[in-house]
Amino acid sequence: MPQPAPAALGDPLYEVDTPALILDLDAFEANLQLLATAAQAAGVRLRPHAKTHKCAEIAKRQMALGAIGICCQKVSEAEAMVNAGIDNVLVSNEVVGKAKLDRLAALRKRAWVGVCADDAGNVDDLDAAAARAGVRLPVLVEIDVGAGRCGVAPGAPAVALARHIASKENLEFAGLQAYQGKAQHIRGIGERRAAIDKAVAMVRETLDGLKAAGLDCLIVGGAGTGTFEMEAASGVYNELQAGSYVFMDADYARNLKEDGQFVDTFRHALFIHTTVMSHPAAERAYLDAGLKAFSVDSGLPTVHELEGAELVRASDEHGALALSNPGNRPKLGDKLRLIPGHCDPTVNLYDWIVGIRDGRVEALWEVTARGALA
Ligand code: PLP
Ligand code: MN
Repeated sequence: MPQPAPAALGDPLYEVDTPALILDLDAFEANLQLLATAAQAAGVRLRPHAKTHKCAEIAKRQMALGAIGICCQKVSEAEAMVNAGIDNVLVSNEVVGKAKLDRLAALRKRAWVGVCADDAGNVDDLDAAAARAGVRLPVLVEIDVGAGRCGVAPGAPAVALARHIASKENLEFAGLQAYQGKAQHIRGIGERRAAIDKAVAMVRETLDGLKAAGLDCLIVGGAGTGTFEMEAASGVYNELQAGSYVFMDADYARNLKEDGQFVDTFRHALFIHTTVMSHPAAERAYLDAGLKAFSVDSGLPTVHELEGAELVRASDEHGALALSNPGNRPKLGDKLRLIPGHCDPTVNLYDWIVGIRDGRVEALWEVTARGALA
C-alpha cells in the first residue's frame, strides 16, 4: 500500500512533510532538455534508463522530448511502465527463469519489448517463452565492453550468439547491448574517455563480425550520465541509455571535466527534504532521515546550501549532522535538503516524488515501479 502523499498541490515547500523526495522542476526540465538536444545534435536515439526514476510521469516527459522508448532493468519494472502507457521498453538486462520469461513474453503483446541475452541456453528459453505466448521477441546480445558484469566477449562469441538468436523462429536479433558501467564514475575525464575508446573498439569489431555474417544491428545501445557525449560521438552507438542525468546525484557530481573542475553538465534536481528533529548539543543535530530514507552505497548525501553543516553518520531513522559554523546552525524543526549520494536506490525508497517550482508543490508523481524487483 503506498503511503499518503507528503503534501498537496499548491502547498508551500516548507509545509511538505518529511522525509520526502523533492524534485526541483526547473532543474529537472533543464536536464531533460539538455540530453534530448545533445542526442538529437549527435544524430543518435535516446532511450533513457527508467530504473533511475521508476516513474511513468517522468518517462512520458522524456518521450515527449523525443526519446524513442525507455530502458528497464527488470520485467516487473517494464510491466509497471507498460501498464502506465509506455509502449517501447528495452529490458537492458538478462531475464532468467520460466515465471519471468512468461511475463516478459506476455508483455510483448502489449508493447514493443526487447530483452538482452548472454547465454545460448537462455536464448532457447526465450524462444520457448515467445512460442508459448505467440509473440516474436526482439533479443540483443549483451557484450562485456570492460565493465566485467554480464555479457559475452565481443567479436566471435557475440556473433555466434547473434546467429543463434537469428536462427530461432520466435526471436528476432535486435542488436548489441554494450554498456560500460565501470567507466561512468571514473573521476578523470582522460581515463573515462580511454575506457569508452576501448568499448567503442570492441563494439566496432563485433559490428564488423555481424556484418560479415549478414546480420543487421537495429540497436547498438549503451552510455550513462558520465560518458554519454563519448558514445554519442563514437559513430557506432545509436542509442543512449543514460538515466541519472534527470536527477544528478552527489556521486556523479564528483566526476571531473577537462579543466579539472567538477562536472556541471546537469543540475542537481533531486533532494531529500528533512527536518531537524533533535538538537542535543550546539555542534550536533539529528535529521529525521537515515538509512531508510537514502542509500549510502555511494557515500552519504551531502547537505544542500548550508555552509558548515555536514551529514556524518546515518542510522535507521536518524541522520547525524555535524555543525561547525556557530553563525549558521539550524534550529529544531527547521527543514533542510540533502543531495542523495546515489539517486536510483534512493528513489526506490519513496512512494512519491514531490515536484517543486517557485517554492510551491506543482506536481505529485507516484514512483510507479517502486519495489518492482522481479
Ligand atoms: N544502461 C544500463 C544497462 C545500466 O545498468 C545503467 C545504470 O547503471 C544505465 C544505462 C544508466 O546509467 P546512469 O544512471 O549512470 O546514467
Ligand atoms: Mn545508478
